[in-house]
Amino acid sequence: MNSLRWRIAAWYALLLVVAILAVGFIVTLRFEQILYGQAQAHLALTMQDIKRIALPAPDQFSIQDTSGDSLLMLENADNLERWATTGTYIEVEDPYGHDLAKSFNLGTTEFPPTPELSPAKPTAMQNADLHGTPFLIENELLIGGRNALIVRVGEPLDQLYRAFNETRQAIVGILLATVVAVVLLSLVLAAGATNPINQLATAMREIGSDRLNRRLRWKNRNDEIGRLAATFDDLLARLEESFARERQFISDASHELKTPLTSINANAQMLARWGDRDERVRKESLETIAKESASLAGMVGGMLTLARADSGEAIPKERVELSALGAEAVAAAKPRAEEKGLAIDFHSSGNPAILGDAALIRQLFSNLIDNAIKFTDSGSVRVRVRAENDRAIVEVEDTGPGIDPLESAFIFDRFYRTDKSRSRAIPGTGLGLAIVRSIARVHDGSVDAGPARGGGALFCASFPRIS
Ligand code: ADP
Repeated sequence: MNSLRWRIAAWYALLLVVAILAVGFIVTLRFEQILYGQAQAHLALTMQDIKRIALPAPDQFSIQDTSGDSLLMLENADNLERWATTGTYIEVEDPYGHDLAKSFNLGTTEFPPTPELSPAKPTAMQNADLHGTPFLIENELLIGGRNALIVRVGEPLDQLYRAFNETRQAIVGILLATVVAVVLLSLVLAAGATNPINQLATAMREIGSDRLNRRLRWKNRNDEIGRLAATFDDLLARLEESFARERQFISDASHELKTPLTSINANAQMLARWGDRDERVRKESLETIAKESASLAGMVGGMLTLARADSGEAIPKERVELSALGAEAVAAAKPRAEEKGLAIDFHSSGNPAILGDAALIRQLFSNLIDNAIKFTDSGSVRVRVRAENDRAIVEVEDTGPGIDPLESAFIFDRFYRTDKSRSRAIPGTGLGLAIVRSIARVHDGSVDAGPARGGGALFCASFPRIS
């Protein structure tokens, strides 16, 4: 009973039943009014005709008869036969309610006592029960000159009630049949409406994390359910992609972590075996262990930064002036550049500021500058920040080998290192640019790489600027 189907069906049926009952009630009531009105109109017509004969209206050619003697004709039962038919009964009384005459079809039957009538209120309708037959009686006080009479015209309502009852039964029958039909129809409709939802639920239940490549593909459904299925398919596609990325990351990370760990392990064993005896082995092993563990620490640090950026955790939004951070990063990198004989300079115009995390922006600068120094053998590294309309731009340009256009699409991927850098045994983790891209993204910015005019690489990051 707790399912959507039952609730839809119950509400639907309830609403329709209430509407049908209300319509039925109104129709029967109106029908009764119409029948009753017809009986009243018929009585009024007879009364009208009686008055036309018994109280002739004066016309312009005759002298008005004020005696009202014509009214006395109604005291004769024979004269009443003119109006008495099987459905019409007439009784005439004096103003005090004493019987004067009645139509023969009444036999010994008596109309009930007359309601009070007066010249101010000369007519009254009356419902009566005569030997078990319901009657409608119209009573009217007729005054003609010095004469006054009460005329009572009655009509049995049994036929009318019978017609009414038969019609009411027919209406009730039709209504009940409609109610049953409506309830059944609601069930069928509700089942029709909720079946696809159940199918959808079953299909979704069958799709576990190991079957993310499955799709519902309810393309032939163009309704809400179809759209829901399409949304699920989209969601599945995104989930599949993100699971695949996750798996790829884990396998890449294990692979990348394994290399320095294996090297550390081998060197530690060497150290244990020969360290005491051979000073050179001891020195080299210790150096390698120190280098590899620093690389491991760098990699783990990078992974942590990426995880933090990926978690969607809101970064602190404070005002960050790019000139200050850029100058700091360049100053910190200067000794390494000079060691390689490279010139490094910094240029700032417009003093752009952004909203963000200073530590992350510092890391973005140092990753780009580190790469530029690492991959450039001679020449210079130029770091620039500038304001351009509503954007703050960071550029790091070098005179190194540049980036192969075929590879520029991948260098921002995690653990991606070009073959050139691997073969030249340039140290690195393949995480630096992935981190740069994540930092740009969490600041609502972007980063891309292209060729520098001097032939090297030009990295350009862009952020929304604040004034
Ligand atoms: P890593 O520097 O640790 O190898 P990165 O993610 O920082 O990893 O860079 C990915 C790859 O992009 C590098 O292996 C290198 O091939 C290429 N690359 C990055 N910066 C430069 C640059 N300034 N000049 C040429 N190639 C670069």
